[in-house]
Amino acid sequence: MRSESKPSQRSGGNTYAISHASAALLFKKKYPRVGLIPLLIAAQFIELLWIVFTYLGIEHAHVGPNGIELDYIPYSHSIFTGLFLAGLAWGFGKSVRRTYVGTAISLAILSHVVLDLIQHDPNIALLPLAWGPRFGLGLASHPVADFLVELAFGVVCWKVYGGSRALLIGIVIFNVLNLPLMFSAIGIGSAVGNHAAVLPTLVLLGVLASGILVWWFGKETIIPDEPRGTVAAS
Ligand SMILES: [Zn+2]
Repeated sequence: MRSESKPSQRSGGNTYAISHASAALLFKKKYPRVGLIPLLIAAQFIELLWIVFTYLGIEHAHVGPNGIELDYIPYSHSIFTGLFLAGLAWGFGKSVRRTYVGTAISLAILSHVVLDLIQHDPNIALLPLAWGPRFGLGLASHPVADFLVELAFGVVCWKVYGGSRALLIGIVIFNVLNLPLMFSAIGIGSAVGNHAAVLPTLVLLGVLASGILVWWFGKETIIPDEPRGTVAAS
């Protein structure tokens, strides 16, 4: 299966889980009545699809000399998939008279596509098909810039959200933990490459860990500015 990929063609790039989780903070700030957990799941929904599809062998990736090579990800990561899922979330929200929630969830889903388009090498399809144009600005190919941009993005999300100091420290630590992967400096390549289930498992752990971090240190920050305790003084 893996031999189908052309080694000459760069297909790397994997936005780090902490950046997607940090993006959820922006939507929590804008839509405070929506739970942080659904926003975190929405921001990572496309990655969760990728994990399931990779376990099933429908999509595939491996770790090569340049880091994670996403050889074949047209179903989870096409632009159409992101727009379709966002539309579905919005439409469902509207149908159950929860347009506010539906809008927040659909924007969080779209944030994944936008961040990945900046970060990935051109491997994001327009449509969920094996052929057709591939998009991606390829920030991942420049590890120093990638690290600085993703770190800055996390800090901006934290700042906009008005998070706690613990949340900031967590976001910075998680970004620093990505450094070995960004520079492919650790010898996990062969281990990951030889076992198809290892890479999606590592990504799943990253998604869970960063989601739990942002939820745990972010959950108490925003109090919805709704009138509370409107008990009529009779
Ligand atoms: Zn992704």
